Amino acid sequence: MTPEYDLVVVGGGPAGSTAATAVAMRGHRVLLLERDTFPRYQIGESLLPATVHGVCRLLGVADEVAQAGFTLKRGGTLRWGRDPQPWQFSFSMTPRLPEPTATAFQVERSRFDDILLRNARRVGVEVRENSPVRRALTEGGRVHGVEYTDADGTTRTAHTRFVIDASGNTSRLHGRVGGARVYSDFFRNLAVFGYYAGGRRLPEPNSGNIFCAAFDAGWIWYIPLRDDLTSVGAVIAPEHYAAVQHDARTAWQDMIKACPEVDRLLTDVPVASEPPYDQVRVRKDYSYWKNSLWTPGMALVGDAACFVDPVLSSGVHLATYGALLAARAVNSALDGSVSEERGFAEFEARYRREYGVFYEFLIAFYDMERNDRSYFWSAKKVTRVDLDEAAAFAELAGGVASGDAAVGVPADLGAHWSAAAAELDGAVGKLTAGDHRVNPLLSTRVVAETFHTGNDLQEQALYGGPLDDPGPAARSGLAVTTDGLAWAAS
Ligand code: FAD
Repeated sequence: MTPEYDLVVVGGGPAGSTAATAVAMRGHRVLLLERDTFPRYQIGESLLPATVHGVCRLLGVADEVAQAGFTLKRGGTLRWGRDPQPWQFSFSMTPRLPEPTATAFQVERSRFDDILLRNARRVGVEVRENSPVRRALTEGGRVHGVEYTDADGTTRTAHTRFVIDASGNTSRLHGRVGGARVYSDFFRNLAVFGYYAGGRRLPEPNSGNIFCAAFDAGWIWYIPLRDDLTSVGAVIAPEHYAAVQHDARTAWQDMIKACPEVDRLLTDVPVASEPPYDQVRVRKDYSYWKNSLWTPGMALVGDAACFVDPVLSSGVHLATYGALLAARAVNSALDGSVSEERGFAEFEARYRREYGVFYEFLIAFYDMERNDRSYFWSAKKVTRVDLDEAAAFAELAGGVASGDAAVGVPADLGAHWSAAAAELDGAVGKLTAGDHRVNPLLSTRVVAETFHTGNDLQEQALYGGPLDDPGPAARSGLAVTTDGLAWAAS
């Protein structure tokens, strides 16, 4: 059967909109099927500069996002590690980028995701909301379409040359690719979160920062969304699940009371009563990856593919970056410049590497917090990383994420992560001591690597390519075209 579409994208979150837009911008026929009707609620409100100034600019939506009135985020303020006083991490410490692009936003996801989805429509994507996809259609080992229910309840099929599954953590299709999800034991946490109708702000220039504070039971995020709206969530051990399930609102408020730095910011502030912010929500077991991210005809991106702990606000970055990588592979295959196999292999190698550097950073970051009396923090020591998980990580990253091909066996990984944690801890110590002549955080390997790809993305969007482009990725020999939307064979 002749395919009606070049690409069908499942899900209209940031990953789905990015993939669909990037392929439609090359003139291809794209259908995006979304289960809900937008705007819809989603968690994941604190963004990174790479999304705002990198991916959004490549997609032609950066100006609209900038004018939407979201809270400007200059970085993060953290009560974390050995210092009892909060310390700041500012994006402007990233030396490669001009000052105005060293910022991000705190966004109401219903509005942010809607802007991206409308932009997809504008560039020619056929968007159908209220249209849940039921299954992928396959023939001869290749995915060639999807079956979905349309807005009037009719079951339909769409035939296509490629499918990208961007349907998030509740994906029904991901099992087609790479078997079951691999769940992280180290990051097996529980999040309980809700909203206040206001809240005090940190002193300028950091009033728009995300504030993360460690406390005995775990850590709390405090995200200023609007003057009259603050997102507050507690990340705690899964052992609290029974209490949270019994009464999530009480458990959430008890956690906030147990964290004096956050409690002080909320004294006498009422909880939000406007929908959808009037509910207290729970997510658990949300850190996972897959052994493979593509199969002939289909790729997984965003939360359908992988996610790791929210403390560094990496979710939307990984989702939109992964989606852009998959779109490059689809665009290159459609125009015949790079085979599907080679293009998707490049997508997967780069996506795994990016996931891996964030994963490593987070392990080192968790290791910094000192709290011997806490069950949560004692369990989050590098030395407690399970050997099976370290082995799975080594396989996932294949030595690439660590930046050191020699590091690959789990025992070495433990020592490697401990060294990264000690280096990070030392750098934060210098930061709070006020030594900012050479940014101590950036001099650490783990921070430099974590922000490397994001900087490249921003430079690609601003100047048409990274200024210090090291050339094609060593493994496959593929570089990026100057519009950022496809692979260039060398
Ligand atoms: P989603 O945003 O989930 O979008 C998927 C879309 O697919 C949805 O609109 C859904 O309706 C649709 N869909 C689902 N099933 C179907 C179907 N069968 N057919 C059609 N459509 C379907 N990230 C950050 O960047 N910053 C943060 O501060 C942050 N905080 C977080 C806190 C917590 C507790 C958690 C769990 C995550 C957090 N994240 C954060 C991560 C962030 O929420 C996700 O990484 C991000 O939303 C992923 O985007 P996505 O497009 O892959 O998926």
